[in-house]
Amino acid sequence: MKPHTPFPITTLQIPNPFFEGRNCVYVIHSDPLTVIDTGVATEKARTELRNSLKAENIAVEDIGRIVLTHKHIDHVGNAWWLQKESGAEIMIHEIESGAISDVDPEGRRWRTLVTERFESWNVPKETTTETRNVKWDIRPARPTAITGGQQINLGGTALEVIHTPGHTMGSICLRLDRVMFAGDHILPDVSPNIGGGDLIHQGLLNEFLTSLRRCRQLSSDIDLVLPGHGAAFEDLQARCQTLYDHHQQRLDDVMSILRRQGPLNVYTVATELFGDIANIHVVLGCAEAQAHLEHLVLEGRATCNGDVYMVA
Ligand SMILES: [Zn+2]
Ligand SMILES: [Zn+2]
Repeated sequence: MKPHTPFPITTLQIPNPFFEGRNCVYVIHSDPLTVIDTGVATEKARTELRNSLKAENIAVEDIGRIVLTHKHIDHVGNAWWLQKESGAEIMIHEIESGAISDVDPEGRRWRTLVTERFESWNVPKETTTETRNVKWDIRPARPTAITGGQQINLGGTALEVIHTPGHTMGSICLRLDRVMFAGDHILPDVSPNIGGGDLIHQGLLNEFLTSLRRCRQLSSDIDLVLPGHGAAFEDLQARCQTLYDHHQQRLDDVMSILRRQGPLNVYTVATELFGDIANIHVVLGCAEAQAHLEHLVLEGRATCNGDVYMVA
């Protein structure tokens, strides 16, 4: 299906080392030429980005603006390089502008947060967590902070910023006429991890479910969704419903675990949900379990005493 927009949109697929395999980078042929997301901060991704742009007859220097859907390294990774080459403005939600101006290429801050969380999740000391000792090829750049409701002028029409916290607190979707750029908020094939993608914030499941309801309300005005990973899809309403139902089911599953075995700490709930977890899955699994436990407390179905959760 051809997107119903005032400008052509080109989709580039940039490789990443994660399980999704590729990131979608979108080029809107507007004035200024606008890029949505930039791929992961590796030399390989940058080379692919340069070559893919060239194959579409786009010179890097022609890019006038970069809009980032959220702070993750596979979305913001090459924004600094595009800005260095073209002088383009980099826009990112105000909550996450530090991901551009104050970069952490060795992931030191992330590892500190993980260590703190492991303590509160009661992750056994002997659990091995090789927490990605990679060094990202990212440098500080100048961001322009944006907020929900803002209209980004594309010359004659506007790109509307929709703040959709959940996957991260500063995640945004962008609407151009009847097309929505969804970042990792709504993906076609997988349910985005909730909790593990933003260890600075808590209460992310409640935010995510609210953002999903918001997108579902907008769905009658949207013909095509362009996600951060995977293929474009048309039925936004159905996808929102599927993701919503998935989390309601997981909340029920966590309640069953608490009823059967509670009181429990986060790590035990995560292993009950996901089986043996190792490496990065300790972080993602525990964070996802915690996000659901927090939400059950918010709903009054569970209570929390220190680091331990039980049926209310
Ligand atoms: Zn992503
Ligand atoms: Zn993400």
